[in-house]
Amino acid sequence: MELIEHWIGGTSTSGSGDRRGPVYNPATGAQSADVVMASKQDVETAVRTAKEAFETWKDSSLTARQNIMFAFRNLIVEHKLDIARALTAEHGKTIDDALGEVQRGLEVIEFACNIAHLLKGDYSQQVSRGVDTYTVRQPRGVVAGITPFNFPAMVPMWMYPMAIACGNTFVLKPSEKDPSASLLAAELFQKAGLPDGVLNVLHGDKEAVDGLLEHPDIAAISFVGSTPIARYIYETGTRNGKVVQALGGAKNHMIVLPDADMDLAADAAVSAGYGSAGERCMAISVVVTVGDAADHLLPRVQERIDALKVAPGDEEGAEMGPLVTGMHRDKVASYIAAGEAAGATLVRDGRTADVPAEGFFLGPTLFDNVKRDMSIYTDEIFGPVLSVVRTESYEEAIQMINDNPYGNGTAVFTNDGGAARKFQEEIQVGMVGINVPIPVPLAFYSFGGWKHSNFGSHGIYGPEGIHFYTRQKVIISRWPDPIHRGVDLGFPQHG
Ligand code: NAD
Repeated sequence: MELIEHWIGGTSTSGSGDRRGPVYNPATGAQSADVVMASKQDVETAVRTAKEAFETWKDSSLTARQNIMFAFRNLIVEHKLDIARALTAEHGKTIDDALGEVQRGLEVIEFACNIAHLLKGDYSQQVSRGVDTYTVRQPRGVVAGITPFNFPAMVPMWMYPMAIACGNTFVLKPSEKDPSASLLAAELFQKAGLPDGVLNVLHGDKEAVDGLLEHPDIAAISFVGSTPIARYIYETGTRNGKVVQALGGAKNHMIVLPDADMDLAADAAVSAGYGSAGERCMAISVVVTVGDAADHLLPRVQERIDALKVAPGDEEGAEMGPLVTGMHRDKVASYIAAGEAAGATLVRDGRTADVPAEGFFLGPTLFDNVKRDMSIYTDEIFGPVLSVVRTESYEEAIQMINDNPYGNGTAVFTNDGGAARKFQEEIQVGMVGINVPIPVPLAFYSFGGWKHSNFGSHGIYGPEGIHFYTRQKVIISRWPDPIHRGVDLGFPQHG
C-alpha cells in the first residue's frame, strides 16, 4: 500500500507518529493509500522548520518573491492535468471539475504574483511641520492552514500563496481524506525556487490541528471547513493569542422569481446543486420559488436531472462523480430517508438511481414541498440533494434566507433589475449572485460568507488576505529642515 508522507523542510518524511489513515478511490470504493497522521512531535518539527525558514524568507526581496511566484504559476499551468487527476482519484470529482478547481487556485497564485504592488503602504507628508506619517505591512511569522476535503487543491491555494508572498512561512494541514494534491503543489513550489521550510505539509487529524492551535510559534491560522469545527478553531486559536480566520459551512438558497428565464434557472439549479456531487460550500441546496415559478421550473429541472451522467470522474462525459467516502454517502442517504419520512415530496430518489454499483455513488435527489422545520432544510447535507421550498411572495423568500444561520452564498433569478437590486441590498449573505448560481469572487476580490459561514473579521484571499497575513505598522517621523537648524550640509560631517 502506498504511504503518503509529510513534506517538511523540502523533503518527504513519515514523522514520528505511528498512526495511519486510509485514503480511498471513491469511484471504486477501494483503499488506495495510507496517509501518515502527525503526532505532537511532528507538529513541533514542522513549526520549528517554518520558524527557522522565516528568519531569512521575511527579508527576501519583493522581486525575488515575485519571480518564484511566477515560476510556480507556470509549473502549475504545466502540471494542471496531473493535479486534476490526483483530485479525481482521491476526491471523486470529474476531471473537468478538477481542472476548474486548479484554475480557481491558479488565479490566487496569479494575484499573489503582484505582491510588490499589493504590499505598498500609505504616506502622508507634513502631517505636522517636518513630520511625515507612513505605513508598512510586515509578515506575521509562521501561519497554519487547515483545509477541507472538498477542494483539496484550491482551498489551500486560497491561503499559502498569499501568506508566503507576504513574507510568512506556512504549515498546511490538508484534509486527511485527499492529501496528495497539496504534496504535488509543494514539490512544484520547491522546483520554482521556494526555499525549503517556507511551505510545509503536515498530514493528520485533530491531534495535529490541536498541536497547531496550541503552538506558541504559530502567529495566524486560516481554516476552511464545517461550522462546528470553524467555531472550535476560532475560539481555541484566539484564546491562544493567534489571529484566526475560520470559514464554515453553508446552506445556500437560490430564489427564482416568476419572471425569471426558467431555462437559465434550471441549468443553474442543476449545475450548482449536483456539480461535484453537491460537495461544495457554494453549492445550491435550496431552491426557493416565488408564486407559480415552481410549476415552470420543476419540469425543466427534472428533465436535466434525468440526462445527468453519473460515472467515475475520469470517465468520458461524466458529469457527476461519487461522494468522498462510504460513510458520507450513507449519511447523505439517511437525509433522503428523513426528508421522505417528514413528508416532503420525493421527486427524484438518488438511492434508486441508475449509478455504478461499485464506489461511493448516490444519484441526484430532488425534493419538492420542503418545509423549514425538516432536517433536509435545516442541516448542511453536503451531497447531491436539492430541496424546493415554495413561497407566496418575494418578502417571504427573503425572510427565509435572512433567518437562516448560514450566510455563505445566495442567488436570485429574475429579469427585473429593480427586484435584483432590492435583493442585493436586503439579503444578509456575504456573496450574492444575480442570475449567477455560484458567486465565487475572482482573486482580486475576497471570498467570505457571513454569520455562521465565517468566524473572524476577514475574508480569504484578495485584499483581505493581504491584510490577514500582514501586520500594519504606522511610522511617524520627524526630520526638521537642517537649514533651519543652521546645519552645514557639506559632507562628510564627521571624522
Ligand atoms: P471538516 O470541518 O470536517 O474538516 C476540515 C478540517 O478540519 C480538516 O482538515 C480536518 O482534518 C479538520 N478537523 C476535522 N475535525 C476536527 C476536529 N474535531 N478538531 C480539529 N480539526 C478537525 O470539513 P470537511 O468535511 O473536510 O469539509 C466540508 C465542510 O467544509 C463543509 O461544511 C463545507 O461547507 C465547508 N467548506 C466551507 C468553505 C467556505 O469557504 N466557507 C469552503 C469549502 C468547504
